[in-house]
Amino acid sequence: MSKIIASAAIRGAHKILGNAEAKWKSAMEKWGANEPVGFPNTAYYLPVIYGILGMKIAKLGDMEPVLKKCRVMLPPLVKEVHPLPYLGPTLDAGMLTLFAEEIIEAIRYLETPDFYTKTEDVTADNIWLGAADDIILRKRGVEFVDGTAPGFAAIVGAAPTKEIAVSIAQELQQKNLYVFMASEYNGKRFSEQLVEAGVQIGWPTRLVSFGPDISAAVFAMGFATRAAMSFGGIEPGDFRKILIYNKDRVFAFVLPMGFVSDEWYANAAGAINWGFPTIADTPIPEILPTGICTYEHVVSNIPHDKLVAKAVEVRGLKVTVANVPVPVAYGPAFEGERVRGDDIYLECGGGKTHMVEWVTTKQMNEIEDGKIEVVGQELADIKPGSRLPLAIAVEVAGRQMQEDYEPILERQIHHLINYAQGVMHIGQRDIAWIRISKQAVEKGFKLRDIGVILHAKLHQDFGRIFDKIQVKLYTKEEDVNKVVEKARSVYGVRDARIEGMTDETTDTYYSCTLCQSFAPSHVCVISPERTGLCGSYNWMDCKASFEINPTGPNQPVPKGETVDAKLGQWKGVNDFVYKASRQKIDHYNFYSLVYDPMTTCGCCECIAAILPGCNGIMTVNRDYAGETPCGMKFTTLAGTVGGGLSTSGFVGHSKYNVCQRKFVLGDGGLKRMVWMPKMLKEEIADRLNARAKEIGIPNFIDMIADETIGVTEEDIMPFLQEKGHPALSMEPILG
Ligand code: SF4
Ligand code: ZN
Repeated sequence: MSKIIASAAIRGAHKILGNAEAKWKSAMEKWGANEPVGFPNTAYYLPVIYGILGMKIAKLGDMEPVLKKCRVMLPPLVKEVHPLPYLGPTLDAGMLTLFAEEIIEAIRYLETPDFYTKTEDVTADNIWLGAADDIILRKRGVEFVDGTAPGFAAIVGAAPTKEIAVSIAQELQQKNLYVFMASEYNGKRFSEQLVEAGVQIGWPTRLVSFGPDISAAVFAMGFATRAAMSFGGIEPGDFRKILIYNKDRVFAFVLPMGFVSDEWYANAAGAINWGFPTIADTPIPEILPTGICTYEHVVSNIPHDKLVAKAVEVRGLKVTVANVPVPVAYGPAFEGERVRGDDIYLECGGGKTHMVEWVTTKQMNEIEDGKIEVVGQELADIKPGSRLPLAIAVEVAGRQMQEDYEPILERQIHHLINYAQGVMHIGQRDIAWIRISKQAVEKGFKLRDIGVILHAKLHQDFGRIFDKIQVKLYTKEEDVNKVVEKARSVYGVRDARIEGMTDETTDTYYSCTLCQSFAPSHVCVISPERTGLCGSYNWMDCKASFEINPTGPNQPVPKGETVDAKLGQWKGVNDFVYKASRQKIDHYNFYSLVYDPMTTCGCCECIAAILPGCNGIMTVNRDYAGETPCGMKFTTLAGTVGGGLSTSGFVGHSKYNVCQRKFVLGDGGLKRMVWMPKMLKEEIADRLNARAKEIGIPNFIDMIADETIGVTEEDIMPFLQEKGHPALSMEPILG
């Protein structure tokens, strides 16, 4: 450890802690110890403090012991003659810097509630997003789970020019990394430079402008710490595990851009605790011997065009960059980018014109691999701001190809097209919707390139199951209508096939262990009537995925002897779960939330909970941020039950699962449902009404309370009574 770095980091920690103490004192005088504090919409309090120390900071007064602890941890300023080594004290200084910064930021939320947007996107007059709430954490965390985002770069300061900022940001995006930005250098900030250059920043494009000051860098560390608790199921306070988890699984590093101040050093020292190294563009002293970080801790004086490559190398990150020959940048980082208003060159679908996408199987001799046809108008033939109907017909052939794989391939179209910079895609099947931006067209993007993307990427990712692929794009009304008609009849057949399957008549279920990289004991077992809780995998998908990748995360699970038919428990499944959870879980029930339900991980779409007072259950979807009658918001529920365990009384499930026939059947089924958010009711209304008819209560949807009726059991009870809700006359739910 370099003495210069140690002295600077320790000096920085002194300043930041002093600042936190002063802010806290004046806040205490103004509001008093009982004033609530915290970051918005999170179950993780101030996450670094909560994760590392296990302390829940909910009121101003709670901060006092933390500040005292920081004082105790604070090493004395480094004197001329000081015994080596410096590493321990410097790391402590870095750690307490982060505690102090969380306190500073929490007090900022109290003093200036509108300082941060508290949203995913920047707004017209504010680009500072502040701490990620739990909804953002879950949504983005899933990308860490499935590997579409291996980690993040924490950039502090500003690049020498906005052009350099843009090229560094794009390089990081193309390596699929998130870019977390804070602080200023020479009166400039990296995120402002991007905005000036016309780059779309915000969570959806992975360019996250946390805040203008260095203290906002702590939001990056808070994100990493929560990822360990939320997806790794690590207990708050188990700091060793949290730090190791991050070192092993989150590929993050710090890129200070500009003169490294004492405060920056202190933050960099903090990040080293998590195993995140620092790669600087200035000639600061290096810390090369490896130890805490996987490789070097601090590497300096790297030219800007080598910065990203060096960081990736130092952090030990292996990146595979897709080689897709289109004229715009391409990668998952561009998936969330939007195309709006004046930027739209062409729009298809979205209720204004017909748009459909369809994958179908053909004979080998009917397909010329790589052939792409555009029938009708191309982008060059139309004016900016136009609308066209569009059909994307993808034809594949191969000896391994089966009809069952068609929906799997079809489902890829959405994200594969979205990965192109300047192209926005929403929906699927015959409700697809696409917007192509003027910027993309200026760079030379054509409709044809959609075919180029699908050909390149589907070959790359699914080459095992087909040999040839060709793509036809139609933009004439009559052609599009013909494809819509054909595709619709196929969709009908597909839906009927999975809808027509039952658990009883299926001997083999499929596992999914994709989430184990974040929730190690979590095992989804997916049956025809119980889709994966994240909403992304049903039985058919898992079966196809196993055939495509026999050593992948979806393995066949012979269900074996029935242990309990009502609750949905099988010996074969139990055996599998025991092994796959590494002896953590030895059994669970498919159809119950009251008794030993399935394990729940952080990416479930909904969480159902028992409401004993109503003799029923409720469920809440991730997108609903309000209170619920079980006394917990979605974020709190997810924090409580989402760590990969089986928690009686609660279970994660997909939206689709609500209307599947086996949904909590062991507890009485859908008839138990007494409350769900209005938005969820509306979203699943068609299927819910169909299922309601099946169970003989056609107006069931009107009996389910929502937040407009109440968010406590007492408040919804009169409504349930008035409607004659069936749960009230069922046998006691806790029998
Ligand atoms: Fe994770 Fe289960 Fe979804 Fe697989 S099915 S991705 S394990 S939630
Ligand atoms: Zn998960």
